Amino acid sequence: MAALPPYRQGRPAPAEGYKLSSNENPFDPLPGVAEAVAATATAINRYPDATALTLREKLGERFGVTPDEVLVGDGSVALLAQFILAAAAPGDEVVYSWRSFEAYPGLVTVSGATSVQIPNRADHGHDLDAMADAITDRTRVVIVCSPNNPTGVTVTADEFEAFMARVPSDLLVLLDEAYVEFVRDAASVDGRTLIGRYPNLVVLRTFSKAYGLAGLRVGYAIGPVAILDAARATAIPLGVTAAAGAAGVASLEPTAETELLARVAEIVERRTRLHTGLVSQGWPVPDAQGNFVWLPTGADTTAVAERLFDAGVVVRAFPPEGIRVSIGEHESVDILLGILGELVPASQ
Ligand code: PMP
Repeated sequence: MAALPPYRQGRPAPAEGYKLSSNENPFDPLPGVAEAVAATATAINRYPDATALTLREKLGERFGVTPDEVLVGDGSVALLAQFILAAAAPGDEVVYSWRSFEAYPGLVTVSGATSVQIPNRADHGHDLDAMADAITDRTRVVIVCSPNNPTGVTVTADEFEAFMARVPSDLLVLLDEAYVEFVRDAASVDGRTLIGRYPNLVVLRTFSKAYGLAGLRVGYAIGPVAILDAARATAIPLGVTAAAGAAGVASLEPTAETELLARVAEIVERRTRLHTGLVSQGWPVPDAQGNFVWLPTGADTTAVAERLFDAGVVVRAFPPEGIRVSIGEHESVDILLGILGELVPASQ
């Protein structure tokens, strides 16, 4: 454990700046959601419902499953940890694409298992064929992240189904869809259409991104009851607070959700504006289907990130590969295009 680097959080923005380093939702909380959270304050001397039943019922209705086929957790990262701990132990392997979500390697290490990282394709998407080839009799979990954090590329529905056809039906596949609400490419996989079709598939989603509840920590998994039961066993009990549960329920109320999804549409417009602008400047940016854009800055990664920081824009640098820029405030798009227009990589 001493050798394990702790999870790295994006650095805070300067007072006048923009924090585009954590894929957060730039909009303020909805008043109705904030009120639902405030209402829980009168009973914080009591433990919350350990299983977040009301929220699971709501989600169950939405996805056409029973509440037992829904597991709510302390952010979807906690759910990832629960599934990995339930399935993998020392000597086992967990296969995932790389580069992908920074938390995967640490969670696998904590379980005692070994990470098998399959390099992304040249277009920065998952190489699902290579991932399927990497499965051995020691593999206990495969994680597929679509859209992939930090590159933004999705797996297509056809690619995913062809992949599932190659995966043994007793090998757990976690489809991490933290950013799915921002996807506009109709060919992309949508876990919702896969629910109930595979005995080994769990779909993970979160309220942190599109629903703007990152500070409260609430995510969910949908999948076969037996697999969810194993993950319930590895959970730290009572992880989802009353405030988080209430905020989740309030966010699914029709009026609130309509407003939240209108905000998502606005973020997607900003993403399109940034992506199109970067492409026309000559940036070799891959497809962007999350609330962020990937800049393949290579050896210049740190220098470009520092240049942006000096201009008050905090981004997430992954030297020596690239930079992930979250879609934030409206005006930040123009600021980014202004700075990045001067930094287009030469080797095109
Ligand atoms: N999966 C992916 C791909 C993510 O990028 C994140 C957050 N950065 C998470 C899961 C975890 O989100 P949360 O724990 O806030 O639900």
